[in-house]
Amino acid sequence: MIISAQDLSVCFGGRVWAVDGVDLDIPAGEIVALVGESGCGKTTLARTLLGLERPTSGTVSFEGKPLAYSTKALKQYRSQVQLILQDPLGALNPRHTVYDAVAEGLRVQSIPGDETALVADALSRAGLRPPERFFMRFPHELSGGQRQRVVIAGALVLNPRVLIADEPVSSLDASVRGEILSLLLSLREELGLTVLVVTHDLGLAWNIADRVAVMYLGRIVETGPTAELLTDPQHPYTRALLSVVPDISRTEPIVLVGEAPDPARIPGGCRFHPRCPEILEQCANTPLPILTPSRGHVAACLRAQ
Ligand code: ATP
Repeated sequence: MIISAQDLSVCFGGRVWAVDGVDLDIPAGEIVALVGESGCGKTTLARTLLGLERPTSGTVSFEGKPLAYSTKALKQYRSQVQLILQDPLGALNPRHTVYDAVAEGLRVQSIPGDETALVADALSRAGLRPPERFFMRFPHELSGGQRQRVVIAGALVLNPRVLIADEPVSSLDASVRGEILSLLLSLREELGLTVLVVTHDLGLAWNIADRVAVMYLGRIVETGPTAELLTDPQHPYTRALLSVVPDISRTEPIVLVGEAPDPARIPGGCRFHPRCPEILEQCANTPLPILTPSRGHVAACLRAQ
């Protein structure tokens, strides 16, 4: 496994359990989508896998070794595991040229070598060709898709093993989305990159991921190979998320009722039970085990046991 999490929890302010018991394994070369609605803890989990957030308990491992949190160790880790942010305009400094934006990581990491050649190579891998044409451009002179490619080039320049992409296409037009998703797929093919895509959009997972992990209130509630999970979802929450994706849904939209989930007040039993359209009598008081990483298709639901 290139990245894994063991019984990972992250609590803010002593009461907000944004991540609450997550086991996750990401094999090298795989594209995994982490899916769930806003506030379920996806970004906190991603930031913790990146070493940007310290776990309250549990461990993050990279190639089998637990992360070390010294400044030096984290700096080295970040050259191997790169974050791609959701809003390319926000991720890029408006006063920096494309060249400087891409070269920044090399300078921070003090990478030796021919900087110009490394920047040019990263830009062309990200599909900005010929790269020299983009060196002196500023973010506002580029299209949304080109800006996202600059952000991706800024990650690629460090020759990372893993990309963690937080909503990589949510701010882009539909036509450009497809281009960026194919870029991520081709980077996996050409460079053997591992990619964790964090998204609220199961449709995006369908288009790109080998595996999907569905997160609800800080915990992974269903995980499996993409086609299997999306054609035969086992968890009522996954079924609800899927029911509103026009391209893949086979049912009428399922509207979830009940209070919005609150990580400061996680319900007992199955944490989804207050909103579950398929609740059984025992769901409120039967605790469900944490899903252990599995190559198969598993769901934390009494109906799926
Ligand atoms: P979104 O897609 O909206 O970013 P998310 O699924 O990524 O949502 P997180 O951003 O991880 O969710 O947040 C999970 C929960 O933790 C939310 O209730 C959020 O308000 C809370 N939270 C996140 N960061 C902090 C923090 N630094 N301090 C306190 N609470 C936080």
